[in-house]
Amino acid sequence: TPKDEDTQKEENIRCLTMLGHFGFECLPHQLVNKSIQQGFSFNILCVGETGLGKSTLIDTLFNTNSREKKSSHFRPNVELKIQPYQLQEGNVQLKLTVVTTVGYGDQMNKEASYQPIVSYIDAQFEAYFQEELKIKRSFADYHDTRIHVCLYFIAPTGHSLKALDLLTLKSIDSKVNIIPLIAKADTISKNDLQAFKSKIMNELISNGIQIYQFPTDDKTTAQMNSSMNEHLPFAVVGCMDEVKVGKRMVRGRLYPWGVLQVENENHCDFVKLRDMLLCTNTEHLKEVTHTKYYEAYRRRQLQKIGFTDVGPDNQPLSLQEIYETKRKEFHEQCQREEEELKHKFMQRVMEKEIAFKEAEKELQEKFEHLKRIQQEETIKLEEEKRKLDEEIMNFYKMKADSETLQTQVCTNIKKD
Ligand code: GDP
Repeated sequence: TPKDEDTQKEENIRCLTMLGHFGFECLPHQLVNKSIQQGFSFNILCVGETGLGKSTLIDTLFNTNSREKKSSHFRPNVELKIQPYQLQEGNVQLKLTVVTTVGYGDQMNKEASYQPIVSYIDAQFEAYFQEELKIKRSFADYHDTRIHVCLYFIAPTGHSLKALDLLTLKSIDSKVNIIPLIAKADTISKNDLQAFKSKIMNELISNGIQIYQFPTDDKTTAQMNSSMNEHLPFAVVGCMDEVKVGKRMVRGRLYPWGVLQVENENHCDFVKLRDMLLCTNTEHLKEVTHTKYYEAYRRRQLQKIGFTDVGPDNQPLSLQEIYETKRKEFHEQCQREEEELKHKFMQRVMEKEIAFKEAEKELQEKFEHLKRIQQEETIKLEEEKRKLDEEIMNFYKMKADSETLQTQVCTNIKKD
């Protein structure tokens, strides 16, 4: 320590410089070694209209080959294409995941364009949150898919942001680090580009949209980062073709009037983006994702299921207390529901009973009515039977009379 050095100087003691690292000075090296062994992961979300050069830019950044075929403009909804890459530079392994919107901005309904993006970002937070809630967590082999940065591609119109840009940015700015990019910046002249950049920044500010700011609190990067903040949104150009410039082969787009060199800082901001994204601020982007955006998501979810840090009396609550209160609330709710169900059941039984009684009464009345009709019919029939019997009797009587009369007439004739 400085104090020891002073004492040593005063006492004229010989100092030896150490040849290797010694003591807890080695701690950072342990961390570096561990990180290298584990490998790094980084997740990028590319949002922008179809054909703005998203795949080309990613390929240019990481030397990958993601462009299979040109995307169609006639998709009914926005989909997210997830491409994992395993990259290696020196002895550093990078598990890169690039999520790209497919069909963004091609729908009539604007909500259909940005809603899948919001849902995707939230779903990754939810997956991490669920892992955190597990009793037996396994973060050592957990593949963290939370989005660390969103590269937002702005169409090089030279005018202003579109309504969809504002809507999408507004709905994701509280969930992810946003780095705005002017796509295909080779299609705008230098003067127009400057005016377009300041127009975009003004629009973002006036609409209250928060974009990622390169951090200026670290002395080693503060100056560079603050000058980079001035260059936002980065005007980028992507290209996988190599063209000859002088004696060198460079990545560039060949035009009748010359070559636009992708990696030339006078031509576009590609190098600025690459350095900021991959060399200087990767860890900061990951840190902000975890400490700011994920933390906010976690807080919202816990509050939704009733967890708070303080009780109604502003006294800190322990997890045990919250659990007990929730359990009691749940028990009470179950009892309330049971009572309600019982009450409903009784009411229905009573209703059914009344209905049965009414039906029985109706049947009885019907039966009585039919019985009455049948009795009347019987009386009628008996009357008719009596009349018929009478008629039969009369008939037999008349028959007997006529027979008697006939015998008398015959006897008289014989006599004569
Ligand atoms: P995506 O649909 O956003 O993934 O767009 P692509 O990467 O498939 O690019 C669409 C077309 O734009 C292709 O023909 C690319 O060659 C072209 N393109 C890509 N980047 C640039 C660029 O920076 N400038 C210009 N002028 N054209 C580009």
